Amino acid sequence: MRQPEHIAIAGGGIIGLACALVLQQQGRAVTVFEAGKAVREASWAAGGMLAAEDPENPTALVPFSRYSRTLYPSFLDQIETLSGHRVPLRTHQTVQVLDSCRPIFAGVPLSHLEASRLVPSLAGSDREYLLLEEASLDPRELCTALRAAVTVAGVALHEYEPVLSAKAEGERVLITTTRRVFEADSFVNCCGAWAASLHAVAAVAPSKGQMLVVTQPADSRLTRVLRSPDVYLIPRGQDSDDRARIIIGATVENAGYSREVDPAALSLLRRRAAALWPPVANAPEVESWAGLRPGTADGLPIIGLIEHPDGSNHDEAPQFLAAGHHRNGILLAPGTAHVIADLVCGKTPAIDLAPFSPDRASLSAACDKHFVAAL
Ligand SMILES: Cc1cc2nc3c(=O)[nH]c(=O)nc-3n(C[C@H](O)[C@H](O)[C@H](O)COP(=O)(O)OP(=O)(O)OC[C@H]3O[C@@H](n4cnc5c(N)ncnc54)[C@H](O)[C@@H]3O)c2cc1C
Repeated sequence: MRQPEHIAIAGGGIIGLACALVLQQQGRAVTVFEAGKAVREASWAAGGMLAAEDPENPTALVPFSRYSRTLYPSFLDQIETLSGHRVPLRTHQTVQVLDSCRPIFAGVPLSHLEASRLVPSLAGSDREYLLLEEASLDPRELCTALRAAVTVAGVALHEYEPVLSAKAEGERVLITTTRRVFEADSFVNCCGAWAASLHAVAAVAPSKGQMLVVTQPADSRLTRVLRSPDVYLIPRGQDSDDRARIIIGATVENAGYSREVDPAALSLLRRRAAALWPPVANAPEVESWAGLRPGTADGLPIIGLIEHPDGSNHDEAPQFLAAGHHRNGILLAPGTAHVIADLVCGKTPAIDLAPFSPDRASLSAACDKHFVAAL
């Protein structure tokens, strides 16, 4: 295989920028086109849990989630070396409410009494819990540092320049943006919830998530992530800090591309959170927002070569998809970047990508629980 020198990426979210960083570090010349300001869509809206062992995740995602999690320390080191910003892990453990219908991948079962020692004021004495060794970070700190790191690394980042189309012409891909026609050896579509606008095969749809932020109650501090299948609470900031917050998330809604925040949804989130941990019932609200997860019918990302159904593009410059990371794109960013870099450079990825293939049958499933409004 001829080694590609110039790679173009559409989408400057965490997935596009992580792919750009790894490819640039491997000696390629990378250009990213971003429709707006980089890392201001789903990646900015996320909670930041690196939830590799969440029992709600599809089973087929577990090996890839663990692979990506093992890459996180070096991903953060590399970002720090380039940008000068250390992105700290904000929490190190999650207490998960057990749902008997879900497979358990890892963790230590806890009684209510044991869980209450880790999470004082915990409600739900009739429930069972699981202690997971799982970290979280602030995605806005990560996004800011990652954006700085890719530019220092030499990636050409063109913001406010949407890609209109990408077409292979022999050994080149012609990328038409609102400002130019750009030529590259290879192209990667990392457009998140908008990926289908460039390639019809990208069966990705927006899955709206609303989030509520409240202050940490002064008399009872949450220091671990607390999560049930309905709601999660993520502590943010130092224990002693009066700016310490709790992020309460998140709805999963099929609401098109609307990012409107709905007071009824926020109060439902707060009620669910208070049923789990009563101190948040009256904690002052600080902020709220909504973001658009890139959702897929089977809850798995779409990562791989875009092939014509008749295989007629084998001799053309390759185009790849890296989208549909739904609820786990922050966790999966370094893993995705490494497997995409392997595919672009003609190497065999460390992880079997068959479950994430763009032409897998499960993508055409008409109805999936992730696409059913949770409210
Ligand atoms: C409320 C909420 C909570 C979440 N919590 C977590 C969590 O705790 N842990 C976790 O791992 N994940 C979480 N996620 C999921 C995670 O945020 C996403 O999976 C991830 O951000 C997807 O990254 P992305 O780069 O694919 O998409 P995005 O960040 O949306 O980036 C896609 C980019 O493509 C750009 N674009 C679109 N069309 C074009 C075009 N034609 N040309 C150029 N650019 C284009 C967009 O402007 C955008 O910047 C959460 C998401 C939400 C909304």
